[in-house]
Amino acid sequence: MPAKTDYLEALNANQRLAVEHGVGHPDPKPLLVIAGAGSGKTNTLAHRVAHLIVNGADPRRMLLLTFSRRAAAEMARRVERIAGKVLGLGSGAVTDALTWSGTFHGIGARLLREHAHLIGLDPAFTIHDREDSADLMNLVRHELKFSETTTRFPTKGTCLAIYSRAVNAQADLDEVLKTVFPWCAMWSAELRTLFGAYVAAKQAQNVLDYDDLLLYWAGMMGEPTIAAQVSALFDHILVDEYQDTNRLQSAILLALRPDGRGMTVVGDDAQSIYSFRAATVRNILDFPGAFTPPAEIVTLDRNYRSTQPILAAANAVIGEATERFTKNLWSERVSEAKPLLVTVKDEADQVGYIAKSVLEARELGTPLKQQAVLFRTASHSGPLEIELTRRNIPFVKFGGLKFLDAAHIKDVLAVLRWAENPKDRVAGFRVLQLMPGIGPGTAGRVLDAIGNSTDPAWALGEVPPPLKAGQHWPDLVTMVGRLASRETAWPLELGYVRQWYEPLLEHGYEDASIRVADIVQLEQIAGGYPSRNRFLTELTLDPPDATSDQPGVPLRDEDYLILSTIHSAKGQEWKSVHVLNVVDGCIPSDLGTGTTHELEEERRLLYVAMTRAKDELHLLVPQRFYVTQQTRNGDRHLYAQRTRFIPRVMTTLFEDILWPPVAPIRADVRPAQPAVVDMAARMRGMW
Ligand code: ATP
Ligand code: MG
Repeated sequence: MPAKTDYLEALNANQRLAVEHGVGHPDPKPLLVIAGAGSGKTNTLAHRVAHLIVNGADPRRMLLLTFSRRAAAEMARRVERIAGKVLGLGSGAVTDALTWSGTFHGIGARLLREHAHLIGLDPAFTIHDREDSADLMNLVRHELKFSETTTRFPTKGTCLAIYSRAVNAQADLDEVLKTVFPWCAMWSAELRTLFGAYVAAKQAQNVLDYDDLLLYWAGMMGEPTIAAQVSALFDHILVDEYQDTNRLQSAILLALRPDGRGMTVVGDDAQSIYSFRAATVRNILDFPGAFTPPAEIVTLDRNYRSTQPILAAANAVIGEATERFTKNLWSERVSEAKPLLVTVKDEADQVGYIAKSVLEARELGTPLKQQAVLFRTASHSGPLEIELTRRNIPFVKFGGLKFLDAAHIKDVLAVLRWAENPKDRVAGFRVLQLMPGIGPGTAGRVLDAIGNSTDPAWALGEVPPPLKAGQHWPDLVTMVGRLASRETAWPLELGYVRQWYEPLLEHGYEDASIRVADIVQLEQIAGGYPSRNRFLTELTLDPPDATSDQPGVPLRDEDYLILSTIHSAKGQEWKSVHVLNVVDGCIPSDLGTGTTHELEEERRLLYVAMTRAKDELHLLVPQRFYVTQQTRNGDRHLYAQRTRFIPRVMTTLFEDILWPPVAPIRADVRPAQPAVVDMAARMRGMW
């Protein structure tokens, strides 16, 4: 009996074409779905996965790559809803079977661990997040005596950015320096030496950084026998948000499927916003021609998300783009309400407007969870967070500070990482320096004394105890011994870490009890992972947000407003969306106005922000805008202009309002007296 496929009825003709493409065909062509925002790409991909499963494909043999772990979980839920029902499977059966769904980095980590023995990698490797990587870069930089203070050598963060860029773009160092970091070009020789030493240090310590997860995966695919083994794991490879993949990622995909068989990629060139991480829109444009015969292309032109007036405004903004493949969208969602262009005096009024508007919408029946505030940079939401807290409006922030970024949580994770991989010097440094009286010098000497010992507890016991550490030292040795011997089952061993760490926290912090409570919360999260290693890997790759709806992190309130960077809002939608600081200097950012290429990316960023809205869109234009500039005086207020991406002719597509409704300061008429004396900046300027 043929499977019931009622779910196809809800799709439009082209969506259905994409969903059914090649099903039942012995040798289907690869498929590209390229279409604008809200046209149902992700929805179509979920239907395709479900349809393949309904028609006999094995979900355990599907590789499903998404932009975040949250997006992967959402995709699995949708597939479950469609296919699980048709096949009459128990709840969660499909989700559980989609084991190869996640981000490129997450899947890379798993494949590398499983195949480590074939590529000479120790499977106990630990993964460094960006901060750890920067710390290691710094250690190596100091060892090489490339000190920034005396010679203005690039900072550890810049060094890491250059390194990462070269790796992800698969580009030569000099090329990267010339095109992206010209002010560092004079250091080419030193940087090459530094990166060589950095790679050697990672290898000696058995750690991989984020970029290595892709680099080693790509390297593995260059070995024909291993590549064949890895490729043979999958019948289907499906990728969402393909416009934001980088060279290395597309090389991996092509190596997995040189003929493109079973491959589906989905994306929108008009939403390509990650070129600062070396993503290249060329990937999606070149995809069809990468195969013989070329990939089938399906385009979608109906937007199901936004009302017609919101879409008209978004279309107008992106319509000015110099290069674009996807065409304008149309929507049947009629509405009288144009998107709002809200002019406010300054950031204080901006925040006041949002609090008012969000509460009004809630009164009218839109829960906070269906409303979002988007911004260019995580730090821009500071004043809003303060105001929301003051007014008791609960919120969750995506793309900002993560739960795991808190120093005390990182400390505990460093203890676990060190126990897992005693060679991990960055972890060791962090742990040792938690103790009173131990600075970098002593920590370095202790780590040298431990050397390459595989039993750190024993080796620690042999080291003469640093005097100032007192009782904390034998306690450390005991705790590390317990963790290394795995005498206590995971995750109970975390209790030992807390017992050891609590007195140090009390010694070092006023708010020790809050920090201890966070660690208890971490222990609860840990309970959701089968092993220490899996816990460390998954948390490093996709850390939960500070307060988040990710599994394992309890939320304080049921309903909460979403705060997110535009980058992190990709693929999502809300009934009502506010965008902060839609002014020149912010969108486009001062940093993004250097080249046409950068400017175009900023335009796409605004397009992504606007197209998140279903029913209501508020673009906020403060006339005075606080920026941190790298000038001698530090922070200052600027008189801002509405973003150049919404020129006067386009304003008819918006409802232009002033809030509060009084005469604003006109940008071209500066007041005789500066409105604000920034005393703090003046004080700092004295030094
Ligand atoms: P983005 O480019 O922002 O990632 P997208 O193209 O992936 O957007 P989706 O998120 O898949 O778009 O869909 C946008 C909205 O339209 C969702 O709410 C989805 O449920 C709805 N939608 C998609 N296709 C249809 C359809 N055929 N009928 C009704 N609603 C649809
Ligand atoms: Mg999508």
